[in-house]
Amino acid sequence: MARMMADCRRFPSESNCSLTIIGEEDEVVRAAAEHAASVHGHEDTPELREQLRGFLEPAGQYSNEPREQEAMPG
Ligand SMILES: [Zn+2]
Repeated sequence: MARMMADCRRFPSESNCSLTIIGEEDEVVRAAAEHAASVHGHEDTPELREQLRGFLEPAGQYSNEPREQEAMPG
């Protein structure tokens, strides 16, 4: 199974979070949801997990260089 990436650097956050999570899709969604709840004050709900799933990018796109931030959708 292809590995996926959830990259906190993609979106603006108060803490300027630099975390990137890479793994299989379900692992990343779970870790990202727990991270969003513990660090960013989101509620870990099925809706949040669905939204996070939509944010995933192929792990091959990972770069350690700083990236341009996008506005958080919704
Ligand atoms: Zn974060």
